[in-house]
Amino acid sequence: MSNEYMIGIDLGTTYSCLAFIDDEGDPVVEKNFEQEDTTPSVILFNENGEIIVGSPAKDMAIMYPLERVVTAIKRQIGTDYEVDVDGDRYTPITLSAAILRKMINDFNDNHGVEVRKAVITCPAYFGQTERDATKTAGKVAGLEDVTIINEPTAAAISFGFGAGGEGRKRVMVYDLGGGTFDVTILDIEGSAFTAVATDGERLLGGKDWDQALTKIIKQKVCEENDIGEAELEDDDDVKQSLILDSETIKKRLSTAESTKGTLTVGGKKAVYTITRAEFEAATAPLMQTTLDIIERGLASKGFSISDIDDVILVGGSSRMPQVKNGISQKYPDANVRVFDPDQSIAKGAAIFASAHNWAGAEEFAAAVASGQEYVPQEGEITVHNVLSKSFGIKAMYDDKEMVSNIIFRNEKLPIVNTRTYFPIEDGQTSIKVEIYENSAVNNDGGKRIEVIDGYSVGEFEMDLPEGVTRNTPITVKFVATDEGILVSHVDCMSIHAEYQLQNKLQMSDSEIKDSQGLMEKVTKAND
Ligand code: AMP
Repeated sequence: MSNEYMIGIDLGTTYSCLAFIDDEGDPVVEKNFEQEDTTPSVILFNENGEIIVGSPAKDMAIMYPLERVVTAIKRQIGTDYEVDVDGDRYTPITLSAAILRKMINDFNDNHGVEVRKAVITCPAYFGQTERDATKTAGKVAGLEDVTIINEPTAAAISFGFGAGGEGRKRVMVYDLGGGTFDVTILDIEGSAFTAVATDGERLLGGKDWDQALTKIIKQKVCEENDIGEAELEDDDDVKQSLILDSETIKKRLSTAESTKGTLTVGGKKAVYTITRAEFEAATAPLMQTTLDIIERGLASKGFSISDIDDVILVGGSSRMPQVKNGISQKYPDANVRVFDPDQSIAKGAAIFASAHNWAGAEEFAAAVASGQEYVPQEGEITVHNVLSKSFGIKAMYDDKEMVSNIIFRNEKLPIVNTRTYFPIEDGQTSIKVEIYENSAVNNDGGKRIEVIDGYSVGEFEMDLPEGVTRNTPITVKFVATDEGILVSHVDCMSIHAEYQLQNKLQMSDSEIKDSQGLMEKVTKAND
């Protein structure tokens, strides 16, 4: 049976969520087989060669060796991380695909369909490699057509959906999830969503609050039960329990001012009490980091908070009262609200899926890239992005190697920019162009940054014409398309070189096909 459903998937670091558009045209979250709205992004390889995903994996994790349990794989996407289980190799792509497969299996089962296309979300700061990897994960999971949109854009689409289409609004999406944090400013005009600025911290999320809480729990357990710290450190069961307990206690403290917990140490139950105030004091520096990033995001465009109509808080961790309170305290006039924190991204992705011109996606990209006006179809949602990373080349400045940025993070796509360089010596015969990616923004400090702040994403050699001197200009033009694909053009006198940044982790069609076999191992509800 062909699939009529419009599906959006929020593939999260700690939890994932699938939404679809129901018969009334409203976005709803699909419950998984375990009857939950969100699926823990946890994968377990059991001894029977099965791949178990979600709560059963999370619950059983404690009984398995660490190498059979994979968590937070999203943090590895786009890297060459691999796990080897019983002779099979898994990459972040195939592991992410397993999570997607489980959610799609559950949906198919429940609706008697075979889903073939979906919109999957990714963080705004993902570079092209991570985006491609996410898209490929969708393909490995068996999807034929995958569109990637940014999580904050999806949240804003969901927010705009209820608000009606009229007028122009500027919203800030504050997304504090399980493993990542970002802030994005978007302009919404009818059904056109344009990201204006985005900033974030890849390694900041609920997990860090859990860790802070783990420390407090350990302290309390020791103080209140006369137990030595060393006793806790030596006990593997204690370590495992603390991981799960800290998250549970944290969630409780979102509604209760104080809570009790128990921890079994050396066969004995130790009771402890923790207050929200203690938890908030211990995590104040984490909260402060998010406030600093809001400030940075505003400053990158010369905005102040009064330029923002609504601040919407999404991501499970924005349920912690300290988040809304912290922001409201710093910005008393801001219109701050927690907005459907676990589901808005998946729902926004589903709304986008239903209002996306699937067949015309290339036409849209081509029109945007050539600067032509694209006329959307009736009701179509269009999304414009900013560049998620700055790109430059390695160049010598006063005998020092630096990265000289050519196009910048937060510039609206598509972007074309040229800078001029000079050979180091007369009669130089070739140059090596090394392209670096980094997070600098376009202010005076952003133009050149130390090499150490970026990482090399590609390089090529180019012959120089005969007779160049130190005064012969070499122009380097970077073109970033609306899809974020980067092409560099280098010109020196009569010589022209062109180079498209390659994605080293790209999988070929046959590799995707081969990997699809692994998906057979993802357990199904009715197996
Ligand atoms: P997400 O990645 O958006 O699904 O967010 C998941 C994170 O939100 C995890 O770290 C959860 O522990 C956290 N979270 C979920 N519910 C709550 C809650 N009620 N209070 C505090 N944190 C929560």
